[in-house]
Amino acid sequence: MRVLIIGAGTGGLCLAHGLKKAGVGVALFERDRTPRSMLIGYRVGISPDGSKALHSCLPPDVFAEFVRTTARPPKHIVMRTEKYKELLVGEIDTELDDSRSEKSVSRIAMRTALLGGLDDVVRFDKSFRHYSHNDDGTVTAFFDDGTSETGDVLVGADGAQSKVRRLRLPDAKVVDTGITSIAGKLPLTDETVKLLPPLADGGITLLFGPQGEFVIIHVMRFDGTGIEDDYIMWAYASAHEKFPDMKGMSPAELKQVVLNMTPRFHPDLRRMFSLATPETVFQIRVRTSERLQPWEPSNVTMIGDSVHLMTPGRGIGANTALRDAELLSRKLAEAHQGKDVVQAIGEYEREMVEYGFQAVEASREMMDGRSLAHKPVIGRVVSAFSRTFLRVTNAVPPLKRKMMAEDAAERDHVSSAHEVVRAG
Ligand SMILES: Cc1cc2nc3c(=O)[nH]c(=O)nc-3n(C[C@H](O)[C@H](O)[C@H](O)COP(=O)(O)OP(=O)(O)OC[C@H]3O[C@@H](n4cnc5c(N)ncnc54)[C@H](O)[C@@H]3O)c2cc1C
Repeated sequence: MRVLIIGAGTGGLCLAHGLKKAGVGVALFERDRTPRSMLIGYRVGISPDGSKALHSCLPPDVFAEFVRTTARPPKHIVMRTEKYKELLVGEIDTELDDSRSEKSVSRIAMRTALLGGLDDVVRFDKSFRHYSHNDDGTVTAFFDDGTSETGDVLVGADGAQSKVRRLRLPDAKVVDTGITSIAGKLPLTDETVKLLPPLADGGITLLFGPQGEFVIIHVMRFDGTGIEDDYIMWAYASAHEKFPDMKGMSPAELKQVVLNMTPRFHPDLRRMFSLATPETVFQIRVRTSERLQPWEPSNVTMIGDSVHLMTPGRGIGANTALRDAELLSRKLAEAHQGKDVVQAIGEYEREMVEYGFQAVEASREMMDGRSLAHKPVIGRVVSAFSRTFLRVTNAVPPLKRKMMAEDAAERDHVSSAHEVVRAG
């Protein structure tokens, strides 16, 4: 059996490894011209479930390299006001073994590690255009450079703007959530580290502004793994209508937009906005997919954002893509052993749609422009965010219990959130 995968992102690379490990023929096509081009190295949190999927698909040496190139794992989740006033501190269990612990990963480092052992599988500078079914049951993928490739199965792992999805499920809808985010990175130096709020170095920090806007800060320390230099990443998010028209703006202008929108935020935070390296600044209109109606399986399927795009609200998009990759590689391995391939894909799709759209809906609940556009109640946002981190706080039962108990109380009373919770 030969499987064609479109897209060398989180899901596509994991799937390629899983199939190769199972002895299934696989070829992966990526439109980026080189492994590092186009990738902004933003931080992705790989949860214990994501790690388990990687652990099961990757050969041991590639998994070890992936672990080696992750940044120091976060030890706390800290919620503050935009003026750095502390609201909540949760501590994350960092004692779990490598296959189960929470990991802080930079996309560039993750792609570099996951490309290990795939030299014979991945082809860069191959932009997929469309596919056709052949009389003998095979499928052919056509590329912008005029070439084509034929296989038994085609998998779209081509992300948020998936062409495979548009052709395979033309009625699938991707909708705007009403939230815009602008993010950037700056080098972590002896000077910039002083701009961080307490506990940010070694944790994840969320800052809530007075108008429903929020900022997330990640500090990435790689301890000399050589792939990337240490950095601070920030992302500012608010309702679309709060932003000016940003069409055609340069990265420097986008930074200025954030500065103009945050005049009363802590001066050190504003300094971090202004120090972002221009080429790392990007803007996202946060979009999400709508639940799909059941469809007849065929030998063309999808994984990850291409089929269930979700907001970054719960930090589970990549983890769900990895779960898809693990499940689909298992199902295709069964087909390789003799099971009917369309039946195997149908089983994958039924399971994937269930957990995938649960993740979409949970992520959307967390990031919806309608709630951000309203006047702020910090407690409400904090309690909403506390649900985001159940994934993390599951490892910290006392914090989880405290957050759950406070949820109702915080809805209307900001003051109840002004409390430090130390767990464990
Ligand atoms: C700022 C930000 C922070 C995030 N943080 C988290 C987090 O903490 N935890 C988490 O789980 N998720 C997070 N996510 C979501 C996560 O990045 C995605 O859900 C995940 O990468 C999806 O994986 P994928 O393989 O489906 O798609 P991608 O990783 O996007 O890969 C798609 C690949 O397909 C390629 N491609 C596209 N079109 C074509 C074509 N026509 N031909 C060939 N190749 C093509 C692209 O170049 C790309 O390499 C975050 C997202 C953002 C934007």
